[in-house]
Parts: sequence; C-alpha cells; structure tokens
Amino acid sequence: MPPLSAPRCTLVGAGPGDPELLTLKAVKAIAKATLLLVDDLVNDAVLAHASPTARIVHVGKRGGCQSTPQAFIDKMMVQAVQDGEQVVRLKGGDPFIFGRGGEEVEHLRAAGIEVDVVNGITAGLAGLSSLGAPLTHREHAHGVVLVTGHAKPGDSGTDWVQLAHTARQAKLTLVIYMGVSSLEHICQGLLQGLPADTPVAIVQQASLPQQRQALSVLGDLVHTVQREGLQSPSIIVVGDVVRGTRAWQLQGESRIQRTA
Ligand code: SAH
Repeated sequence: MPPLSAPRCTLVGAGPGDPELLTLKAVKAIAKATLLLVDDLVNDAVLAHASPTARIVHVGKRGGCQSTPQAFIDKMMVQAVQDGEQVVRLKGGDPFIFGRGGEEVEHLRAAGIEVDVVNGITAGLAGLSSLGAPLTHREHAHGVVLVTGHAKPGDSGTDWVQLAHTARQAKLTLVIYMGVSSLEHICQGLLQGLPADTPVAIVQQASLPQQRQALSVLGDLVHTVQREGLQSPSIIVVGDVVRGTRAWQLQGESRIQRTA
C-alpha cells in the first residue's frame, strides 16, 4: 500500500460533448487543476471551468497532427504529479470505457501515484438517449454490451459472429464504439447471427449541436452510413430497442431512412 500522503492524479470523464452533461465532481476537479491534459474528444467548452492560471495541454490529434504518443502522456503526467502539480487527465465520455484509462492508471500506480476517478457519461449511453430510446427494456433487451470495433494491432478483435448469436439468444443490445471504419467487417459477422431486419441506430457527435444520426437495419447499414456520409466519432446501436426511438415510431417499420 502506498503511504496516505502519496501523490495523486485525477482522471476525469468529460462526458460525450454537451458541457451540461459534466458531473459536479468533474467541474470541481477541473477548477482545482493546475495542469489539464486533454484528449481529442473533449469539448473545449468544458475548459471554461478551468482556472485562468491552469496550463492546458491538448494531447489528441488536433489539427490533423499525430496524437501524442501514450508513453509521452504517461511520462508527462508522472513528472507533473511529482512536481507537485494538481493534475487532471480529462478524457471524453467515461475515463474507464475504452480510451485507455485503465492503462494510464496502471502506469501511474506503478510510479507510486494514487489515482482518483470521476465518472463521465459515456458516448454509448448518450447516443440512443439522444433519440429518446432506452438501451434496456423489459420486453426487448435484458442487457447491453459495450464493444469496440477497433482492435489493438495484432489482436484478432471481437468475434462478431459469436457476439451476434449471444445477443440474439440473451436479448442483448449491442453498443459499438469506433465501428465506422470496420463497418463492413462488423456487419458481415453480425449478419451471421442476427436477422437482416434487426434495427440499428448510428449517432455521430451525440449530444453536440452538430449531432447527426440515421436509422437503418443491419442488412442495409453499410449502405445507409455511406449514403448519409456518417463518420467517426459515432456510436452504433444494434437491437430491438432502436424501435423505441421517436424517429422510428414516426417513420414506421415500412421505411427506415435518415433522421438527421
Ligand atoms: N471514453 C469514451 C470513448 C472513447 S473511444 C466514452 O466513454 O465515450 C472513442 C469512441 O467513442 C469514438 O470513436 C466513438 O465511437 C465514441 N464517441 C465518443 N464521443 C462520441 C460522441 N459525442 N458521439 C458519438 N460517438 C462518440
């Protein structure tokens, strides 16, 4: 166990984009920070809560630049904490849902630094809510799987066929992060276990003024996403709960098209 006075760092979830979805705890942590290390998908409006004297470092892929290497971010965090700074690592959504929060915690702990975590609303929750539907439903969905469409290099990634069978048998909603670039591969796999008319919602930039979305069915999803020009960052929700969106109900089952 590290001593009680061990230096500390705070990992803060900035939510999906809308600054009003920040928690009060996140606002307090941001206000207290002397150094903020900010990820790509964090809305700049959130930084209005920072002290005017705080140093703000963007470590994402802003302006088309390469993202800062993870090792560099880790080193900068450790050094700043050891120098006595109040360090906040600000991440989009929830810090522990994808986005490598777990790896950063391991690194900080290995350096003798204690980590406090402030949850944020993950994009996967904000996506379907923004269309007025729940991810679970007593009749249609007994659970939710949050899954990434982007495997680590060298990793074979998710077994989409297996996942589709499980989702069908167990009545699970699939919430896919980082799925746009591998959409064809994902759909090919899912269609081997789920019907082609399974409803799907795709929500780009959920909770932000520039949010766009489309409704489709699994068998037509690739086509829908191409036609609408939907891109990352997007959340893809697969399952019967999508029928609960206001737009699906307005359009009816017969013609599921764009809602953006
Ligand atoms: N920690 C983040 C996820 C980081 S992974 C969270 O909890 O939300 C990055 C992926 O999250 C993106 O590729 C996209 O799939 C999703 N994402 C993040 N913000 C989003 C938003 N506002 N709208 C839709 N998807 C978003």
